Amino acid sequence: MAQTSGRLILWYVLAFFLILLAVQTFMAAPGAVTVTYSEFRRLVEHKGVDDLAITNGAVSGKLLPEGVEFLAQERQDDKFPEQVKKIFEKEPLFTTVKMEDKNLLDRLDQQGIKYRAVAERTWLTALLSWVLPMLLLVGIWVYFFRKIGGAGPGGLLSVGKSKARVYMEDEIKVTFKDVAGVEEAEEELKEIIEFLRNPAKFQALGGKIPKGVMLVGPPGTGKTLLARAVAGEAGVPFMSLTGSDFVEMFVGVGAARVRDLFAQAQEKAPCIIFIDELDALGKARGISPLSGHEERENTLNQLLSEMDGFDTRKGVIIMAATNRPEILDPALIRPGRFDRHILVDRPSLKGREDILRIHARDVKLGPDVNLGTLAARTPGMVGSDLANIVNEAALLAARRDQTVVTMADFEEAIDRVVAGLEKRNRMMNPKEKEIVAYHETGHALVAEALPLVDPVHRVSIIPRGIGALGYTMQLPTEDRYLMTKSELEERMAVMLGGRVAEELHLGEVSTGAQNDLYRATGIARSMVREYGMSEKLGPLTFERERRPLFLESILPPSSKDYSEATAQEIDREVAGLVDKAYRRAREILASQRDTLERVARVLLDQEVLEGDELRRLLNEKIAEKG
Ligand code: ADP
Ligand code: MG
Ligand code: ZN
Repeated sequence: MAQTSGRLILWYVLAFFLILLAVQTFMAAPGAVTVTYSEFRRLVEHKGVDDLAITNGAVSGKLLPEGVEFLAQERQDDKFPEQVKKIFEKEPLFTTVKMEDKNLLDRLDQQGIKYRAVAERTWLTALLSWVLPMLLLVGIWVYFFRKIGGAGPGGLLSVGKSKARVYMEDEIKVTFKDVAGVEEAEEELKEIIEFLRNPAKFQALGGKIPKGVMLVGPPGTGKTLLARAVAGEAGVPFMSLTGSDFVEMFVGVGAARVRDLFAQAQEKAPCIIFIDELDALGKARGISPLSGHEERENTLNQLLSEMDGFDTRKGVIIMAATNRPEILDPALIRPGRFDRHILVDRPSLKGREDILRIHARDVKLGPDVNLGTLAARTPGMVGSDLANIVNEAALLAARRDQTVVTMADFEEAIDRVVAGLEKRNRMMNPKEKEIVAYHETGHALVAEALPLVDPVHRVSIIPRGIGALGYTMQLPTEDRYLMTKSELEERMAVMLGGRVAEELHLGEVSTGAQNDLYRATGIARSMVREYGMSEKLGPLTFERERRPLFLESILPPSSKDYSEATAQEIDREVAGLVDKAYRRAREILASQRDTLERVARVLLDQEVLEGDELRRLLNEKIAEKG
């Protein structure tokens, strides 16, 4: 919008010039034949003119037919009379620049030519020659100042005004109908919508509403879209800012913007304040104290204090989005700030199909197009990738002059988008996908087989971020502070289950288990060194109390306070624990090879298995046996 107003001004200036031009030509008697002064004098001699208007600088008047004829002769231009006839409907006019000419009036009198004097500066000419250029200058001046300010309407002149005014939207057309594949997030946001629709009623019923809601998820999964959809569903104004907007060149501007934004929100309540790309603004303070991030920190501090002083009951919800929650300042996620986190994850197979359907709404699809098949071909892709594919396919079809978009167009579009993504390392090839499916099934089956570990909540082979190709999520059934030795051992077995499953299925292992091994070894080491859980070494701890982090870099690393022999013993014990867990996992999985195959196949197909589904699959098997 800042741009639009700039362009608008440009149009004004242009229009102004045009009007000026029109007025000027009008003032100069449009279509008057310009004659030289000598021509004029001869015209007077031949009585070729009449009804003169004389000003300080010019003489103009009627050009009589005799005058036209005379000029044609004088100029040796046969076509002159015809031209004059074309231009003038009635009597032709002429004008000439006046020269010093003492006897002019006498001669006019002699010839009997009528003349009158005209005051040169009428109010109109004064207006044109003074006021308009002034206005023009002011216009240009304002225009450039806005450009310099570069900060929306007002620019430099109203630096502290919030950009949020620019991005305020009263009516958002986006609703949950335009979002797919993130049903869980939608479900969590429903409460917020309910609240925004009728804050008073919601509160009367005793509903407690979070102040800040943070949407967390990889880029392109629809966080911004979801935030807008919440406003659309609730029918409230949407004020949005992008984190990087705050990084301003003038000191204090960012903080002023935040203040202004919150003040506006109070007026507009119920409404949503949305801060996109919060990480740009909310990077942990003090990470790089030397590189002049003061302005950002001031802004962040202002945001924090505004959030603290904010009364949610008025009906203002503060939403934010980020794909890098790990770098956020811890103060931002404290209770009373962005304490509600909603995961906007990569879509599943079904989700991808739904997203494709949404974006294909306005596209004419050929009869052969199967969105389900397309969804199966795009594991790991996010909403923006899929939107991109539909768009790309439509463009391809248009380029080929087709009337509908065919499956072939989609296939080619996918290839193009995939090529782009592969560069960014976000796609798995089918072989990798298979390995990951077996790996994750391994974790899940071991977890289900062991009594002391948390039940499986979800298994997924949709890649998430760098490093994690899939995940098996276990949900603790209760909060835990203490863990027994058996529980820790079972946990390690679950971690190693992934690697075991790979071994059983492929006869070899991949690099995918690296993180599992790391974590399992970590547990084993803690068991031996910290918790005194090794039978051989007995109830001893070999871990010094951890020093504060900042001392770590100053003091030399602590030397071991146990013997070399003990160190070897520790290593052996750690290895023994890991090995025991490994054999346990192998026993479990080897005894249910067919279940492993079956579940892995389903997972490969669906990409996501909820805990209940998994247990149903397992029970089926048991029922068959029994
Ligand atoms: P993010 O903010 O998470 O990076 P955006 O909301 O900006 O992602 O998504 C960019 C575009 O991709 C959206 O405008 C929409 O067209 C498409 N898109 C992304 N996620 C979805 C989704 N879940 N459902 C439908 N379209 C989506
Ligand atoms: Mg976004
Ligand atoms: Zn694993």
